[in-house]
Amino acid sequence: MSAGLQFTDSGWHTKKGNLYETNSISKQESSARMIRTKIKSALSASQSGETIKVCGWVRTRRDSKSGFSFVELNDGSCMANLQVVIDQSVPDYEAMIKDVTTGASVAINGKVHESPGKNQRIELHAESFHVYGTADPETYPLQKKRHSFEFLREIAHLRPRTNTFGAITRVRNEAATSIHRFFQSRGFVYIQTPIITTSDCEGAGEMFQVTTLDLKRLAQVQTEIDFSQDFFGKPASLTVSGQLEAEIFATSIGECYTFGPTFRAENSNTSRHLAEFWMVEPEMPFYDLEDNMALAESFVRTVVGDVLENCSEDMEFFNKRIDKTTLETLRNITDNEFIRISYTEAIKIIKASGKKFDFPIEWGSDMQSEHERFLTEEHFKQPVIVYGYPRTIKPFYMRCNDDGKTVCAMDVLVPGVGEIIGGSQREERYDVLVDRMKEGGLNPDEYWWYTDLRKYGTVPHSGFGLGFERLIQLITSMTNIRDCIPFPRTPKNAEF
Ligand code: ATP
Ligand code: MN
Repeated sequence: MSAGLQFTDSGWHTKKGNLYETNSISKQESSARMIRTKIKSALSASQSGETIKVCGWVRTRRDSKSGFSFVELNDGSCMANLQVVIDQSVPDYEAMIKDVTTGASVAINGKVHESPGKNQRIELHAESFHVYGTADPETYPLQKKRHSFEFLREIAHLRPRTNTFGAITRVRNEAATSIHRFFQSRGFVYIQTPIITTSDCEGAGEMFQVTTLDLKRLAQVQTEIDFSQDFFGKPASLTVSGQLEAEIFATSIGECYTFGPTFRAENSNTSRHLAEFWMVEPEMPFYDLEDNMALAESFVRTVVGDVLENCSEDMEFFNKRIDKTTLETLRNITDNEFIRISYTEAIKIIKASGKKFDFPIEWGSDMQSEHERFLTEEHFKQPVIVYGYPRTIKPFYMRCNDDGKTVCAMDVLVPGVGEIIGGSQREERYDVLVDRMKEGGLNPDEYWWYTDLRKYGTVPHSGFGLGFERLIQLITSMTNIRDCIPFPRTPKNAEF
């Protein structure tokens, strides 16, 4: 690297300023082009006496009677604001300070001072400032008061400027990075599986159709729909899972994982279902159900641990403002082994509890979220892995146990959410698989490539799916999954 040059967020610069700086630009422009320091790094590393430039959005401004203003500035790089003092002696103070209102975007050059206040280590004393864009206080929807999460969902284009959604966004980023690190450090290969599919992983229903047919015209002529005329020559949909394709790579390249969007048209208006969500799906050859459960446990504990370590400021916020038990719950996850019980034992415990549930439960029925949450929140007070579910309630690809009644399935249940992971050892026996498909009303011929994997060099293998937004729900204690994804898609809602 040549001397005097340094790489910053906005490109290559000389130590004095932008490489392309010329003499012809105005003073204000030139101050706006000086190297920008992010507030996170200013707060942690800037020393008294240093001259820096910061840019961001005004959270609040207070004017003192003695002729200066305090501005709280946030640029999203961290939760904390930088306190900026703008004195009336700063050029253009009289003319421009009125535009420095909540929501306005500004650049400020100034000198770092030790702060006399006890809330912050340093503050910035402005030497010049520039307003990029004003925000009319009469109409800017984010005011200083607390807003309900329902209201913030209606302004999803502005909610990332709030403390809560800034924190969620940074936590999401850390969790996603940690997920890749977890698998990459174990030699898993990242696979991109298709979003448009002509097979249905879970059996019919719950899928969004993808078509280029002219639906308006078809509705007028009311004939049978001829899918051979459609784009793919047959019915196509958005994927509900990348698993089947991941199995192809697990049985060739080895341990692999997908991390992508999945779509479910289930019309459930719950606090833990989205129509579009992100799923992490590892798939491993030569893993049995035990290996699968061990991986899933280690996965959840590692990612939670990484977020606790690398997003401590944001996590303190969730603990203080969203749920006071957040940190305790998460530390319990990182520090202790998960409980493992069979489905049969789980049903016994639920029935013996004497608790009244909205849905009665018997051996053979699917657990509802109230049952899952009873187990993990009230009974064990810890994450629980339930394995060995009845075959009648689980999909065709899960390996049948010798008892003829159960399959090698496992769900990871966590406090506050319920099911966060669903997984299984896959059925690797050709005949059993084909029988199970027929049993579920699927045509094995349509899955010829999937059954081929059992015809040519089949191996025992396993995998699971983790709902990424449910993981974010667990970590942040946000009660509604719609607040755990930037732009939620739910029934009747796809704005932004
Ligand atoms: P549930 O019973 O809670 O509806 P599921 O059993 O249908 O979930 P799976 O098919 O096992 O879900 O999907 C694997 C994981 O994907 C789940 O454990 C969950 O974390 C997540 N998930 C499933 N459906 C949704 C959804 N609609 N929105 C968000 N996450 C979901
Ligand atoms: Mn499931």
